[in-house]
Amino acid sequence: METTNTAPNVSLNKFKRAKIIATVGPSTNSYEAIEQLIKDGANGIRLNFSHGSHEERSQQISWIRQAAEGYGKPVAIIQDLQGPKIRLGDFDGEYKVETGQELIFEFGADLAATGHLPTQYDLALKVKVGERVYLFDGKVKTIVTAVEGNLVHATAQNAGTLLKRKGMNLPDTDFGGDIITPKDEIDLIYGATQDIDYVALSFVQSAQDITNLRYLLNKVKSTAKVIAKIETKAAVDNLESIVKASDAVMIARGDLAVETPAESVPTVQRQIIGLGLRYAKPTIVATQMLASMTESPEPTRAEVSDVATAVIIGADCVMLSDETANGKYPFEAVQTMKRVILYTESHQQLKVVFPEYEDHSSAASITRAVISLAENIAAVAIVAETKSGATALQIAARRTTTPIIAVVSEERTSNQLAIAYGIKSYVRPVDAYAATKLTDWLRQEEVLAAGDIVVSASGRYPGVVGTTDTIKVRVLE
Ligand code: PGA
Ligand code: MN
Repeated sequence: METTNTAPNVSLNKFKRAKIIATVGPSTNSYEAIEQLIKDGANGIRLNFSHGSHEERSQQISWIRQAAEGYGKPVAIIQDLQGPKIRLGDFDGEYKVETGQELIFEFGADLAATGHLPTQYDLALKVKVGERVYLFDGKVKTIVTAVEGNLVHATAQNAGTLLKRKGMNLPDTDFGGDIITPKDEIDLIYGATQDIDYVALSFVQSAQDITNLRYLLNKVKSTAKVIAKIETKAAVDNLESIVKASDAVMIARGDLAVETPAESVPTVQRQIIGLGLRYAKPTIVATQMLASMTESPEPTRAEVSDVATAVIIGADCVMLSDETANGKYPFEAVQTMKRVILYTESHQQLKVVFPEYEDHSSAASITRAVISLAENIAAVAIVAETKSGATALQIAARRTTTPIIAVVSEERTSNQLAIAYGIKSYVRPVDAYAATKLTDWLRQEEVLAAGDIVVSASGRYPGVVGTTDTIKVRVLE
């Protein structure tokens, strides 16, 4: 079994606690670019399956693994499934819409021949009279007036211009659990043959969607964890059950701000982060964090503030999409995020609201005890032996400022913990003294020093999930 044997490349008290996810795309589609993203501070790499071929993906996955290994840090690879992202189909030129105009949508229509707007999805199967259909990021808003056979009639509420392949949002439509498309299934089966740590599901509406995804992942023997992307009104209505059902949650502000009022998104962002802390599920703030950096080497003041705010209110990760996928300044964007995170974490206390949650399970109690012990004694690190990663996630969710070192037995777990707040992880064989041995090694590598105090949490049955029952305090020699 492989072990990660590179000492942390920064001292323990200087590393960033909040993590960065970068999306690979045309701007960063090379080994060198991916390596640079990782060196500049990316802890997770998102592969957006709305674009690109499987061949390209396999190449990128091997580049990511090679670069991460070379640099000696775990990196989470996220397969982001397109989900029922509905788009207009192909047509020539612009399509002008007047207020009050009747539009007719038809799956795969030929606009020139029929006057019907082509869609890449058969809306008639799902939409109902009175529901809203938004086009082109909500630039044109329509309401469905009739569904006749495979034709959907709608009235435009405002004037605007449409272009081919622009996105459509259906904020009122209930997909009845049918959000994993045939394309997603094909991508999932492919993903199971690849070295993937997380699968992100787009347009989740309910916890059942997550259960359905887990069923499919089990069927293809995937070891990936599940990220729920919150970007529909239904998901906002079902937040708590979705967070509980998922392993991590993304605040997908791009579509969320179309499907729900844009002004509600900052509040929902705080709610999701609060639930993530309560249930120890990493949260990811996504979309337009440094949007202006797709064109400019400098972020706007508002963008810097957005990243800092996400950190202060307790997000685990901040994410870059277009900035690193299609932008002119992908590396500057990652560097900017890292600088903002480091400054914020060293100058500003987190303003995290821990919801009242009376959890007296032994796991939760041990977590609280470890943290208070480590803080009281001014430990330089908490070392957690953790099979599934759950113990480390529980500790991280309390947002202790003590660095958390996780000792895990599998690369997969280590990569998955890469996007969780404050955790550095190392892969070591299952062993009754794994935490002690790792601490000794870190001392030998001079990451830890004589006199340093370390608090460790481990279990009587190493390698068995949920058996953490031992807290130890060590003063290093
Ligand atoms: P997307 O998801 O980039 O896949 O659309 C994120 C978002 O909607 O914000
Ligand atoms: Mn989206």
